[in-house]
Parts: sequence; structure tokens; C-alpha cells
Amino acid sequence: MIAKTKKVADYKKLSTELPTLRYVDPERVYLSLNTDRAKQYSVNVETGDYVKLGQIIGERDGGFFKQPIYSTVSGKVEGFQKKMHPSGMEVDVVVVQNDFKDEYHETITDRPESVIEKMSREEIIDVIKDKAIVGLGGSGFPTYIKLNTDENIDTVIINAVECEPYLSSDYRLIKDQPDDIFKGLKYVMQAMSASQGVIAVKKTKTELIEVLENELRRFKDSNIKIAKLDDYYPQGWEVETIKNALGIKVPSGKLPMEYGVLNINVSTTAAIFEALKHNLPITKRHITINGDAIKFPQNIRTRIGASIKDLIKLSDGFIDEADKIDLIIGGPMMGKSVTTDDVLVNQTVTSVLALKSVETYEEPCVRCGSCVFSCPVDIQPVNIMNAYKRGDKQALENLEVDKCIECGLCAYVCTSKIHLTDYMRKGKNFLR
Ligand code: SF4
Ligand code: SF4
Repeated sequence: MIAKTKKVADYKKLSTELPTLRYVDPERVYLSLNTDRAKQYSVNVETGDYVKLGQIIGERDGGFFKQPIYSTVSGKVEGFQKKMHPSGMEVDVVVVQNDFKDEYHETITDRPESVIEKMSREEIIDVIKDKAIVGLGGSGFPTYIKLNTDENIDTVIINAVECEPYLSSDYRLIKDQPDDIFKGLKYVMQAMSASQGVIAVKKTKTELIEVLENELRRFKDSNIKIAKLDDYYPQGWEVETIKNALGIKVPSGKLPMEYGVLNINVSTTAAIFEALKHNLPITKRHITINGDAIKFPQNIRTRIGASIKDLIKLSDGFIDEADKIDLIIGGPMMGKSVTTDDVLVNQTVTSVLALKSVETYEEPCVRCGSCVFSCPVDIQPVNIMNAYKRGDKQALENLEVDKCIECGLCAYVCTSKIHLTDYMRKGKNFLR
């Protein structure tokens, strides 16, 4: 029985200790044209065209934003097809056959630090917009919109907490590219005229803290600090991270920016560095391949547009004795289940988990109170479930189901194995 806890098992040891495997040369990449966030698109290449790395091949239209689509390899456009997107949607893709030459588009040129130092807020945000930088922690939200706030930002906080079990792609990224993260943070601080920067990590990640503190010596004039946070779930939820790193409580319904704080995921910060320094869109990312049904758990740095099937092959495939496997994109608490590994890698894929399927049966609620105790937003999952089952809209409103962040903790701790988070989602949808 798991009860009254905010601790979840970690399962990160194996994948964090191994060096990152570099798999940046797939034979072909599948570049999604439409996505779950942007349903419309235009495309400006045809089958047989030669494209360069970093060349714009089309544009997505998400209604309130437009986003260029970049080729992440150089090579020949092989054609157009449908492919499964990490969101679970079937999307249209451009298939580019990699010529393994990494011939960069003419626009991909380095900016000297002396030029970056003089860039205005608008110029920095324009680069981030033009290079289609999005939240790499899984949100996929366009970063330029976040930065375009009217609020005065005093603190930029880099979220490197990575509290979901099994995930260690951010951990490996920091170990592999600490300099990029500090520089990316400095650029964002410059854009926002922020007086301080904070990198938030779990205090249990001592090796990582050592890497960051070593790097910090080179940035000692930048007013950057490392915040070492307790190890519980969901410490990486931005409200929790900000509360514990800065002592600022952001009330429900408010944005951190209203309190002078801009929260950015650590992988996004590295992407911002690449955009400003090298004028590069997101062409590669770290991904964790993990779970008890994977033969060789590890972290892989791969090209955007690669196939998840290939990443699983590179990890020696699934273990033979697993009868049935649950495949999840993202973490086990908030990730999405998919029915096939024939899925493309996009910017938001933090991890792929293969877990041995275990049959669980829901038992009646024993009113143990674990779900209420564990909920980070202080709502009552058990009462919300009952209100939903009764179809009681007023009770759902009174119980503030809309505050639920779908962190999955109530279902994880439930003594009776009730899929409480599903009820929270259903309750929210029912109210709408
Ligand atoms: S999923 Fe929602 S209701 Fe359940 S613990 Fe998380 S925030 Fe609370
Ligand atoms: S739903 Fe019932 S059994 Fe499950 S954690 Fe909540 S109170 Fe306990």
C-alpha cells in the first residue's frame, strides 16, 4: 500500500550514470507539418528538392501564432506521408533523406558574444520566434509568447528539477552542455532585464550540483544562483519550484510573471542559446529511453524527426519475457500512452518509457484520505470523483476541480488503485 506520501520511486539510476549516446544521423527524418497545437500549415518544398540543415520548408499556423518549420538534416525531400505524432495524432510529414553532409543553410551563422551583448529585448525575442523555439519540457508552447510579457521580470528561474520518475534527459543535458545553459540563461536575463537568475535542481542530485557549481565560477558576475530543492513530487511543477526556490507563492489562477518570475525549462534554455549563438532552430534533443521492459535504458541525443522505433532498437529493444508492454511518451505520471513505437521524435519528447504491463483492478474507495493528503493543489480527488459520478456540476465547481494540474499523484497513492486522475480530467471536461 502506498499512502499519504509525496514521494514517488525514482528509477533514474541506470540511465543517469551512462554517457549519452549520440544518434544524430538517422537515414531519414520525418518533419511534422501540422501538430496538436497547430492544425493548419503551408509547405514550400516538393518531392526531389534538395534542402539544407536549418532551411525553412514550411509554416505552421496555430491560430494565435505562426511557426516556421525547419529541416533538421541536409538531403533530398523523399516525399510526403502520414505519421504518428507524439501527441497521439496522425499528422502530415515531409520525409527528408539524410545525405549525412550536414550542409547548413546560409542563414545558420554564429553571432559573436559582442553582438549578442548589444541585442535589445525585441531583437532577442525575434530570434527566438524566428527559430521556432518552444517549451522542451513537454509543453511545446512557443517561447517567444512567454517572453513577450508586459510584466516586469525580476528573476528568471531555470527549471532543472525533472521530478517525473525515470526521466533523466535534462540531467544528462546539464552534464553534457552546462556552458550552453548558463549562456542561455544570461541571454534570457538580458532580454527581460532581470536582475537575477536561478537554476533549480533537486538537492539529491549531488553530481549535477557539482557540475553547475563548477560552471557557476565562470559566471560569478551574472548574479546566478543554484537553488537546491527537496526531492518529492511534483517539485518540478512551476508553482512548487518557485515557492521553494524563491519563497514566492503564486496563487491558483495567477501566472508567475505577475510576481516578477519567468520560469523556463532547462532544455529550452539550451535551445535559446543555440538560437542566439548559432542562429539554429531546434535540430537535436536529449531523450531518455527507460523502463523495466527496455533491455538497455539510456539517454540518447537525437535529431528532431528521427523515429522512436530506431531509438528503441538502439537500446537493444524490448525484453523478451514481457508479454505485454505499455509504451509511454513522457513520464509515467503525466505522459501519454501510445499503441505503437512508429512515432516521430519532435521537440517535446523528453522520454520514451516501456513498462511491463501489470493488470490492476480498482477496488471500492476505503476513505483512507491518501489522495487528499497528497494533492499539491489541496483539492479533494475522492469527493470530485464522487461528484462526477453523480453528474453534480455545482459540487464539481465548489470542489474546484479546475485547479487540478493532472500531476497523477492521487492515482499513484490511491490504496484502491482508482484511476483518480482520469476522473479529474473527466470532471474538468464535464464542467466545460
Ligand atoms: S492529479 Fe489533480 S487532483 Fe490528483 S493529485 Fe494531482 S492535482 Fe491533485
Ligand atoms: S480514492 Fe479513496 S481509497 Fe483512493 S486514496 Fe482517495 S480516499 Fe483513499
